[in-house]
Amino acid sequence: MTGVGGHLLERQSTLPGWTDENQARLARSQVFLAGIGGVGGVVAQYLAMGGVGNLVLVHAGDLELPDLNRQTLMERAGIGKSRVAQASERLSRQVPECRIIAIDSRISPWMESLVASSDLLIDARTNFEERFLLNRMARKAEKPLIFAAMNGMEGMVVPLGPGTGPCLECLFPEGDPAWDPLGFPVLGAISGAVGAMAAVLALRILSGYGREVENRMTVFEGMDLSTRSFRVEKSRSCTACREG
Ligand SMILES: [Zn+2]
Repeated sequence: MTGVGGHLLERQSTLPGWTDENQARLARSQVFLAGIGGVGGVVAQYLAMGGVGNLVLVHAGDLELPDLNRQTLMERAGIGKSRVAQASERLSRQVPECRIIAIDSRISPWMESLVASSDLLIDARTNFEERFLLNRMARKAEKPLIFAAMNGMEGMVVPLGPGTGPCLECLFPEGDPAWDPLGFPVLGAISGAVGAMAAVLALRILSGYGREVENRMTVFEGMDLSTRSFRVEKSRSCTACREG
């Protein structure tokens, strides 16, 4: 385009200490993102805008009107159509440089090779059946996994390292029935806040910018805008860790 100066990542590149290598790492990266709803849609958008080169988006089902209080990649005209297809189209228009694989499906064991070829997995699903399956695939493939979740006015993000540290089932051995299925209350802006926090973590892990962030849970409380952050530990009784 003539008459328009600069490039997409000009402002990002002026972060203190940010290097060309940080950016090149993002361009080479592939992220496997489970869920492109209220949380995952915001993650996808910021990863693409931050220069992540490859996204695998996985989400089952068509758009419904109540989704539109939080799912920022969606439009009214898309009601009744595949959400992941809409997310992919929208992101491709916004950041054509980002290569996207869109899969309209629940998390499934056949996705193992896509997990193995990814540098980072992000869990922004709403049910623990899919979350636990992705967790086990992450363990097996030795990939870092960011868990992102919200409920009502509260959100949380947990970056879990690959290898011998704690896994998602260490933290939530029973799952959480209150989040399942889809019935929990949602202030859309909380989804956005949590999605943005997960994107910050992902961009740091992938680019290698800043210090180690893994194995800490951060809980964001929307009623007073406070955050609590603490280290998470491996559980000796975790079946996923024992089987992995
Ligand atoms: Zn575990």
